[in-house]
Amino acid sequence: MFGNNSRIYNYQLFGPDRAVRCGAALTVRASMARGALFCPNCSLPGQRAISPDVLQLARNMSTEKLAQLMKADLPVAALEELKDLMLNLIEQQIEKKLQTRKMLAEALSHSRET
Ligand SMILES: [Zn+2]
Repeated sequence: MFGNNSRIYNYQLFGPDRAVRCGAALTVRASMARGALFCPNCSLPGQRAISPDVLQLARNMSTEKLAQLMKADLPVAALEELKDLMLNLIEQQIEKKLQTRKMLAEALSHSRET
């Protein structure tokens, strides 16, 4: 499915590396709404905060080759958070809840128990 040179996704999906409203570089803290990123100065109440680990992980996924990412020891919590954000994006785009989301969460929790 993926060649060695393929990247998992394009970071542009997450918006540019700058806050969408004020253009400030996103360094440590950011929040997201509908796939656009905001810095702490221009974020709106209720927007979901994105941890620095997740921002870095998204950057790495857009720049590193899949083979390198497979070897890397990626932080599990950041992977989970990023997966959740991307499922939110998909649900916003298709304007409905994914039924597979619950199944996916259940399958993952079972695989951790065994
Ligand atoms: Zn801003």
